[in-house]
Amino acid sequence: MAQAQSKTAALPAKQVLLVVDDRMENLEAMQALLEDGEWQLRCASSGEQALRCLLEEDVGLVLLDVQMPGMDGFEVARLMRGNPHTRLTPIIFVSAIAQTHDAVLRGYSTGAVDFVLKPFDPSVLRHKIQSLLEHEHNRFELQALTLQLESARAFNASVLANAAEGILVVGEDGRIQYANPAMAQMLEGDVSDMEGAELLAFLDNPLCADGWLHSEFYLHFRRGATYRVHEAMMRTLKGGCLPVALSCSPLPRQQHAMVVIALDMSVVRNLHAQLESQAVTDALTGLLNRRGFHRALESSLARIERSGQRVAVLYLDLDGFKRINDSLGHDVGDQLLRRVGEQLKACLRPYDSLARIGGDEFTALLDNLNHPEDAAKVAEKLIELVSVRHTLDGVDFTLGASVGIACFPECGQSVEGLLRAADMAMYEAKRAGRQQYRFFSQEMNGRARSRLMLEESLRHAIENDDFVLVYQPQFHLGTGRLRGFEVLLRWQHRVAGIVAPNVFIPLLEETRLINRLADWIFREGAMQLAAFRQQFGADMVLSINVSPVQFGMPQLVADLQRVLDAHGLQPGQLEVEVTESALMQDLELTQAQLRHLRELGVKIAIDDFGTGYSSLAYLRHFELDTLKIDRLFIANMLDSPRDAAVVSTIIDLGRHLGLEVIAEGVETQAQREWLTRHHCNIMQGFLVAPGVPASTAMQMPAQLDWSTLPQPRSP
Ligand code: C2E
Ligand code: CA
Ligand code: CA
Repeated sequence: MAQAQSKTAALPAKQVLLVVDDRMENLEAMQALLEDGEWQLRCASSGEQALRCLLEEDVGLVLLDVQMPGMDGFEVARLMRGNPHTRLTPIIFVSAIAQTHDAVLRGYSTGAVDFVLKPFDPSVLRHKIQSLLEHEHNRFELQALTLQLESARAFNASVLANAAEGILVVGEDGRIQYANPAMAQMLEGDVSDMEGAELLAFLDNPLCADGWLHSEFYLHFRRGATYRVHEAMMRTLKGGCLPVALSCSPLPRQQHAMVVIALDMSVVRNLHAQLESQAVTDALTGLLNRRGFHRALESSLARIERSGQRVAVLYLDLDGFKRINDSLGHDVGDQLLRRVGEQLKACLRPYDSLARIGGDEFTALLDNLNHPEDAAKVAEKLIELVSVRHTLDGVDFTLGASVGIACFPECGQSVEGLLRAADMAMYEAKRAGRQQYRFFSQEMNGRARSRLMLEESLRHAIENDDFVLVYQPQFHLGTGRLRGFEVLLRWQHRVAGIVAPNVFIPLLEETRLINRLADWIFREGAMQLAAFRQQFGADMVLSINVSPVQFGMPQLVADLQRVLDAHGLQPGQLEVEVTESALMQDLELTQAQLRHLRELGVKIAIDDFGTGYSSLAYLRHFELDTLKIDRLFIANMLDSPRDAAVVSTIIDLGRHLGLEVIAEGVETQAQREWLTRHHCNIMQGFLVAPGVPASTAMQMPAQLDWSTLPQPRSP
């Protein structure tokens, strides 16, 4: 305890003896007598001088002459006693034998420790001085020690009083001897409530159920070891509970006690619990997050594996959420997600788990299920609940939901397996037209697997340039003149041979691989168009199919511009074929994209017209050049008056709007003749040619004579 020690003054090496006498000869005699003692001698010839010396030095003993002119010895003694510094300094009065008995008494009463009458025996005086100085030395030491102890005690007390940790001293009998203020505060009481009480009374069982002598506290104490408990619970005086970490160390043996330090762990534990719960909850909805759901499913699976029960995982995806989020803003989107979360929760049983595991994707875990059909009922209810009219910020809109269901153990045995299966089933539900639920089936799994394989080989094909382009000619029905070609994609599979685009284009789209191919198609097609122009004339048109994903890409126009520039082509010679569904996916974006295409100057055709929304209304809003009647109508129109009516209506419509109309899939002379009669402009189909390699396309006649056409060829 360095602080405590520094407060005590050091003792002088040799003590100072002050001799006071107004007569010089007396002083000299004293000096001669006392010079060689175990002390340092100081002389003063007046009371004033003596007091000055007393102020300047720590004087151990004063030999004080009683009779002095001015300030006499008694007065000096009185002043010394009035000063705390010299209050206890011993004084020996020296006086002539002639002094009266009264003077002696007076001397003692002013604080003298002794009285020496002249003449005196020098050796007796030396002894007196010696013993008084020793006494004074001891007194000084004792004082210093007391001071030191006092300061050490104050220091310890302040440490104990100010420590943030609870500190107890517990006797070997298990009773609390001392408690510091922090401990009292932690236990919601006063120090006095604790002192004398049993330590175990404040501890929660089962830490020491068998009494003090069997408690680990006592057993460790006996062995002289420290006992630590990281997760103990203390009972407060108000009946509450406090999580603490405890350590109990024995004090030195003679104390027969131990010191117990208690660390308040409630903040740490709360923080811990908070972090734990943050890690598994979704901040927006307060539901579980993906991690939380994983955990819930994991523990549920572990539990039921033994009981043979069934659980179902529901995977719910909102239909149309993205649109609302994009158009009404993220605040509204967030509100909506919160509301949906509440609705879903209300519809589940309290012990079912519900999570939001992605933007607008929710999962539910239905525990303890009797039949898979029960899961279907819940799914139906969820869809119904979500698919109502919602009003947020004064705006009305409808949402929808698609749900996939996977049951344990049929559809998967692991957390990942079940989630994947439910996800897959959800996609099937969406594909089937939304607002539906689907159970996962093995067939789905098979499809997913072959899809994976297909995807893999598509990636290969792109790297190995296994794709080729074929060109199908289009002819003007009236004049028989070649209008141009539609470029069609083929995959030359090493084993399977030619693969039709219907098989792989959707997958290319889903995986966005289409973007890597599209650029190549543009460049290759543009190069071929340059060759067609040389062969057939400058007005040849090349039709390029643009898939919905491609149509949605912002860089489409820039890509087209680049190929046009690279091959010195007129924009009007390129025709972009887009399906109705591609146009309808996002009307705002469609408007903008069509405007850009128009500014670029390429032609725009609607492909497979009549099959999609068949909404003639939108035709007025979009600026187009060409309608391509879907080949199903052409195939059926001669047998089905309905289809014939559709075809002639489209032709009329096109004429009114000033659009070119192309009939696709014309396979017979009868179809051609019917179309000519109904003033359709252009035909394309096996009647003339399927998609053929570029070299074959270059051999096409620029002008057809319909009557000499050979039997239709098929691809
Ligand atoms: P589509 O744009 O409607 O293309 C016309 C399809 O009809 C082609 O099939 C063509 O071979 C076929 N066809 C032409 N004439 C006849 C006929 O007289 N009878 C019959 N039964 N069929 C005929 P294909 O080449 O299998 O292409 C299928 C679809 O794949 C295309 O439909 C188009 O949507 C897409 N596609 C083809 N090539 C590309 C491409 O390069 N890029 C993109 N994005 N999609 C493409
Ligand atoms: Ca097409
Ligand atoms: Ca078509």
